Amino acid sequence: MAEKTNVVILGAGYAGLMALKVLQKRADASFMSITLVDQNPYHYEATDLHEVASGALTADRITYPIADVVNPEMTEFIEDRVTKVDRAQHRVELANHESIGFDYLIIGLGFESEDFGIPGVQEYALPMDSVDSAERIQQHITDEMFAYRQDNDPRHLHIVVAGAGFTGVELLGALSENRERYAEMAGVAPNQIQIMSVDGAKRPLSVFSQHLVDYGLAVLRGRGAVIESGKGINAIEPDVMHYADRETGESGEVVASTIIWTTGVRGSSVMAASGYQAKRNRMSVTPYLQDPADDRIYIVGDVAAATDSETGQILPTTAQLALVMGEIAGKNVLAAVTGYELTPFTYKSLGTVCSIGNTSAIGVVGDEHEVRGYPASMLKKVIMNKSLLETGGIKQVMAKGRFDLYH
Ligand SMILES: Cc1cc2nc3c(=O)[nH]c(=O)nc-3n(C[C@H](O)[C@H](O)[C@H](O)COP(=O)(O)OP(=O)(O)OC[C@H]3O[C@@H](n4cnc5c(N)ncnc54)[C@H](O)[C@@H]3O)c2cc1C
Repeated sequence: MAEKTNVVILGAGYAGLMALKVLQKRADASFMSITLVDQNPYHYEATDLHEVASGALTADRITYPIADVVNPEMTEFIEDRVTKVDRAQHRVELANHESIGFDYLIIGLGFESEDFGIPGVQEYALPMDSVDSAERIQQHITDEMFAYRQDNDPRHLHIVVAGAGFTGVELLGALSENRERYAEMAGVAPNQIQIMSVDGAKRPLSVFSQHLVDYGLAVLRGRGAVIESGKGINAIEPDVMHYADRETGESGEVVASTIIWTTGVRGSSVMAASGYQAKRNRMSVTPYLQDPADDRIYIVGDVAAATDSETGQILPTTAQLALVMGEIAGKNVLAAVTGYELTPFTYKSLGTVCSIGNTSAIGVVGDEHEVRGYPASMLKKVIMNKSLLETGGIKQVMAKGRFDLYH
């Protein structure tokens, strides 16, 4: 009997699980075996991390067991941390297991928080790039609110988010919606809880039109949260964020016991450890999503720098994109194994919706249809349910889906 083709998938995020789903559905255990590796026993919806960080949701609402989507007849799941891909030997090195060999590899190791080398970020700011880190933020806020009861130091009541990109604004929305809860913990009036974001860009969320952004900012202001734009953060010290105004150069600081870092992301550092020379660990790929130096290695999701086939521009990292890349990589591995033609990567964004808490959002659907307010927040939940359906199937949608559409 011929040897089975051995496919290894690294990461059970959006891209990795989509690739797994395609292969488990279309390939056959008689000619293919799959090994899936993730450092956690669960998949998490990274797009919901801000809701865990704010305390709006518990972690179990945004996670499900990877075992639920693994077909044991075809796939072995290894829970471990990948440390390096040995590209020359076609092996993957793991922290706590023997290395594993592969015929085909799909790398979907996702994103990490990017600190841009700014002093003090690693030591004194809280990243939000995993379930554990989101839970740490939630716990930290709770501890600070109760600490206020002990010494009445107002810095315990101040929360500052570094960055007002998509993630920063979604987090600000969730935090501001929970202001009353924080106030109760601290035993103060809600207006004593200061929630703000500091961002270097002249205007936040530049992917959206000015009037959509104005709408979003007004919702945030109405809940007592503010965004300070055009301020380049240059250092973090214990309980202090330092910045300089981008126009005047004037320096300033925000004093807050909770400093959350969401200025951007880079791809997994396993890419650099594996010898990939890529800007922010996002590797350029072939039109079929392969490593340009090795057509048996596919690179998908946030570790890939895929280009728009029409404009040639590098696409922003999103879950929506990761799902499409995972699907194409899965299909291409199967096509390569069975001798069919590979499918080139193409992508058409379905739109982007940025939540501002649980009950409001701003966004663009398709090419230009703008949505805002409560209908946009319903749409956001429908999009989340769709992505849950794509990786986890109907069982996960029923258990973890967002059905709080009406308020
Ligand atoms: C708060 C927030 C809101 C967002 N909102 C949206 C949105 O509304 N719409 C949208 O499209 N995108 C959104 N994004 C972006 C989106 O979450 C990412 O683009 C997406 O998660 C990338 O998917 P991925 O499969 O490449 O990687 P990930 O989802 O990051 O998954 C990577 C997987 O690899 C595992 N892993 C990582 N390193 C290792 C290792 N060394 N060893 C073993 N396992 C490892 C992780 O445990 C994880 O399971 C948001 C992101 C954040 C943080």
